[in-house]
Amino acid sequence: MCCRYFALPIDTPETRADYDDIRWYLCHEDTTVFVEKGDWYLNVKNKCRHLSEKGHKCLIYERRPKICRKYKHADCDFTQGEYDYELHFTNDSQMEEYIRVKFDNNVNEKRMLKKSGARKA
Ligand code: SF4
Repeated sequence: MCCRYFALPIDTPETRADYDDIRWYLCHEDTTVFVEKGDWYLNVKNKCRHLSEKGHKCLIYERRPKICRKYKHADCDFTQGEYDYELHFTNDSQMEEYIRVKFDNNVNEKRMLKKSGARKA
């Protein structure tokens, strides 16, 4: 959480359809999806309507939501510029390619196993 974006946890995708749903998120402007410590998040880069244009101050500071009160400036990735993501998708094309590699390679692998008569352990 930050005054300039928010990230919500999403279900870990399993099926191709799940990944395609995430691709749909990424079709939208100002969204990214990242994976941190194995958990998936939808990141919406949209500043809070209560952040002032000048001085970047909270215009409802005294009655800001509880989540804002708990948030520590030092935790803000936005200001520190340090990211520790395992995966980070910034557009739908990246997800499309990821799906292709993840699932189509599996299909090829299965075809090869079938041809050779081999079975997975
Ligand atoms: S309410 Fe205030 S502190 Fe909370 S996100 Fe908005 S501007 Fe930031």
